Amino acid sequence: MREKLRASFYTLGCRLNQAETGLISNSFRERGYDIVEFGEPADVCIINSCTVTEQADAKCRQIVRQVLRKNPDTFVAVVGCYAQTGFEALQQIEGIDLIVGNQDKLQVIDLIDEPAKRPEPRIVRSRMTRSPFTLPFYGTDLPTTRANLKIQDGCDFMCSFCIIPFARGRARSRAFWDIQREAMELVEAGIKEIVLTGVNIGTYRFEDKGFMDVVRMLLAIPGLRRLRISSIEPTTVDEELLDLMADSEVLCSHLHLPVQSGSDRILKSMRRVYSVREFLNFVDRAHRRVPDILIGTDIMVGFPGETEDDFAESCRILTDTPIAYAHVFTYSERPGTASARIEGKIDPRIKKQRSKEIHRLSEQQKRAFYAQFIGKTVRVLTEEQDFDGRWLGFSDNYIRVAVAGSDLHENQLVMCEIQSIDEKGIAIGRPIGRPENERSNRKTNLNPKTVA
Ligand code: SF4
Repeated sequence: MREKLRASFYTLGCRLNQAETGLISNSFRERGYDIVEFGEPADVCIINSCTVTEQADAKCRQIVRQVLRKNPDTFVAVVGCYAQTGFEALQQIEGIDLIVGNQDKLQVIDLIDEPAKRPEPRIVRSRMTRSPFTLPFYGTDLPTTRANLKIQDGCDFMCSFCIIPFARGRARSRAFWDIQREAMELVEAGIKEIVLTGVNIGTYRFEDKGFMDVVRMLLAIPGLRRLRISSIEPTTVDEELLDLMADSEVLCSHLHLPVQSGSDRILKSMRRVYSVREFLNFVDRAHRRVPDILIGTDIMVGFPGETEDDFAESCRILTDTPIAYAHVFTYSERPGTASARIEGKIDPRIKKQRSKEIHRLSEQQKRAFYAQFIGKTVRVLTEEQDFDGRWLGFSDNYIRVAVAGSDLHENQLVMCEIQSIDEKGIAIGRPIGRPENERSNRKTNLNPKTVA
């Protein structure tokens, strides 16, 4: 009898890519493949690529070479963003068998009848549509705690530095009923936390439904314990979201709002459509309406023309406001983007120093935010155990907490008192009472009458 074929997967890039690799790997499992760890011998290796920076492109090429060096007979498919924009460079690498852009990547299984090596790669790069989409749900290989739920793809904003509108196409949204169906199945399967994902989720639109309709619909699903909005563009947040956060036990008090720069001059050059003042006013309103909210951001350093004064203004976003952390991105020139034509490229050494400084300020700021919660009670979802046997997880407002307790296990909601912050910047919690999901006081999320 013929042995089962084996497939392995490697993901580069964002949370959305991770969610999509999960879908692709499940489609292989459904067709009878064994899924093996990346690095183990496999008949097929799928690399889900990213092209957000030059480094991401280089990393993808490096991974391809690594796979082929170790297992030259493996059928190698590169899918996703770099496959979409950088197929010519990928084509030059001997040994790649299939290159699939974003429109077709979730159906890559249908493009591999027999995983036999090819002399030349086959390239599948269809035009990306603007049509609404649906996604299959596979009940296998689910995460045990947080699940990413994709609601949207693509972006129409055309920020001058960003390759995403070219790599992922224009904005399109998932059918409203399809989101509801998957969310209900996830909850049924025991998932406690759903994290919304997409490229620009605040621009969600399907028929007469917008982003807030999605949020209200999800909050009304009985049994969903947590709903987290991941990254959302500052100009797309409805003030009603803050009201829901303040009133709901389910909607997490956490927003990631990418500001990108603290300088209005640079924001204009980036073609961002808000001023620093507008952004900070919103942050202020959010903190007044939802006092325990954690707001994180993205800051880009080294954008063409960024002076020391501009950079100092970006630093002030972290030192003079309640923003709790920043993910730092070092500007990387992407061919075809508007910023590639802007004068005043920044020396790589300066970019590196600026990145280091934002990292330092972010750590400092996060510690200060966490410290405000010492002595307070937060609710933590247990995700994994560390070497000391403590359970690690996040509070509703995204504080990373380690909690010790012999009766704890994975995927439990546990109330704990924050006692201190350790040297790694993790909050140390002491459990209070029994884990919440062993008690019978489950709260209904919202009145179902509020479903849009
Ligand atoms: S909003 Fe985000 S994804 Fe869209 S173009 Fe701007 S940076 Fe890129």
